[in-house]
Amino acid sequence: MSNDSSYQIGGGQLREEKIARLEYQDDKLTGIVFTNNEVLPRHGILLRPASYQHSHLATKLGCKFGSNDVVQVDKSKQTSIPGFYAVGDVSSPYSQIAVAVASGTLAAVAINRTLTEENLVQLR
Ligand SMILES: Cc1cc2nc3c(=O)[nH]c(=O)nc-3n(C[C@H](O)[C@H](O)[C@H](O)COP(=O)(O)OP(=O)(O)OC[C@H]3O[C@@H](n4cnc5c(N)ncnc54)[C@H](O)[C@@H]3O)c2cc1C
Repeated sequence: MSNDSSYQIGGGQLREEKIARLEYQDDKLTGIVFTNNEVLPRHGILLRPASYQHSHLATKLGCKFGSNDVVQVDKSKQTSIPGFYAVGDVSSPYSQIAVAVASGTLAAVAINRTLTEENLVQLR
């Protein structure tokens, strides 16, 4: 690793100076302006936004949380509170639609099975 404020990574160059602002023309990005006023011409940027829990429901209900600030669930997506399920981003650190849909399906199957078993018990 170099002590310079910029160095090569693969085919790209890492700049560690602070960004002052982005430059636009006609609603289109034209460059990144650093705090030393140097402008790096660019037409697009990739951002990795931080994610956090928007709803405090799980906290209020007393659900246990795992690592990455996600609600802890078992294989069937049931939280630490029996009968309370959590699916999608609220209980997964992956932030992927496919993962959210799959977890919803697993919870639905588990809930259906539980309700069916409860009905069978009542019918006996
Ligand atoms: C910028 C960005 C780009 C992404 N790109 C991709 C991608 O290319 N491919 C991919 O697979 N995934 C992508 N994702 C991730 C994907 O959007 C999520 O994984 C997915 O939407 C999770 O679904 P969800 O139902 O768990 O949550 P959400 O889609 O976030 O739905 C939760 C809903 O609950 C509502 N809500 C929150 N609190 C309350 C409350 N108290 N009362 C009532 N409603 C409430 C919210 O308004 C929201 O509508 C991206 C995410 C972001 C932010």
